[in-house]
Amino acid sequence: MEKSEVVKKALELGFEDIGFTTMEPFESQKEILDSRKEEYAWALKAGIALIKGLDPKNILHDGKSIIVLIDVYFKEGFPSGLEGYFGRAYLDDDRMTKGQLYQRLKAFRSYLRDNGIDSRAPFNIPHRLTAARAGVGTFGKNNFLYSNRIARKSSWISPIPLIVDYEFEPDEPTIEIGCPKWCKNTCIASCPTGALSAPNKIDPRKCISYLSYYQEGITPLEIREQMSTWVYGCDRCQEVCPRNRPWLSQDLPLNKRVVAKEKDFALIKLLHMDKKYYQTRIWSHMFYMSYNETWRWKMNAARAMGNTLDPKYIPELIRGFKENQDERVKGMIVWALGRIGGKVAKSALEGFKPKSKDLVKEEIEMALKKF
Ligand code: SF4
Ligand code: SF4
Repeated sequence: MEKSEVVKKALELGFEDIGFTTMEPFESQKEILDSRKEEYAWALKAGIALIKGLDPKNILHDGKSIIVLIDVYFKEGFPSGLEGYFGRAYLDDDRMTKGQLYQRLKAFRSYLRDNGIDSRAPFNIPHRLTAARAGVGTFGKNNFLYSNRIARKSSWISPIPLIVDYEFEPDEPTIEIGCPKWCKNTCIASCPTGALSAPNKIDPRKCISYLSYYQEGITPLEIREQMSTWVYGCDRCQEVCPRNRPWLSQDLPLNKRVVAKEKDFALIKLLHMDKKYYQTRIWSHMFYMSYNETWRWKMNAARAMGNTLDPKYIPELIRGFKENQDERVKGMIVWALGRIGGKVAKSALEGFKPKSKDLVKEEIEMALKKF
């Protein structure tokens, strides 16, 4: 089968770019994972078999090449009520609802199958490194992959690797940092939690994305303000990057699919949602947290409300305190009331104090000191 036919089919199906690479194991990534076991222990705990994914043969024994499809997830714009609260990569993620991207990928794999080629779509091989090895992008010092050819060479792209049992000629790898020399590491300076501490060095445990969906317990006091209004994910180190400015400078038409679900993701709805609402309206779009983790969503929504400093959220936070039993949610509501401040918030906190205990009581005492 000709490589050019596969490229043509991928573009026909709406993928923006495509590259090809070999089945060689990802040795450099293995060294990184070996030297930073503690920082990546959470991934193993979450069931992501990172080490296994470093040798593509573990996924498809007869594999001969890796095809990397590129999807641009920010082709259309997103409502301002969602940007700054949810990472853009998640806003139109339709893997669970089996929407357009799922259907296009399915059609591409069927096309390969019709031509006698078996494929696997692994989640645990290093996607960005595979893409750079397939020559479709270079790295930023923020660790994101930047396209070589499309989306104005920005990072708003998702690489989708497919391991296939057919040998295609590999493309020229571009495993390098593509940042301009004049950029003074803006991404590192702008990372609010210090997760990015040096070029290409990230501690995932400090990254807001990780913290927003995996952190255990109430968010530590010292990073609540830094986490700002992010509820799920964080785009800060991509937004400040000059390599993304050309794409961000456009006036894009709004993504209608995302506009349709905007109201479901309002902070007030998230703070007051029940399990059924979470399962039916939220989880199908943002699914990294289990059905039993509505507490984390509510805690994040309360923190985001606090960080807007908008008094319109005070009655909602008071209602949330009365209706929730989870001390992590109540504790964060208290913090948010203290952060927004004002007479109504203060009197609510004083009213909550006599019946509160442990963590919630401590949070109330800390919050009241601010008034
Ligand atoms: S996503 Fe946010 S928290 Fe994570 S490294 Fe980038 S700026 Fe820092
Ligand atoms: S902000 Fe600067 S250093 Fe960071 S990824 Fe962008 S160009 Fe590279």
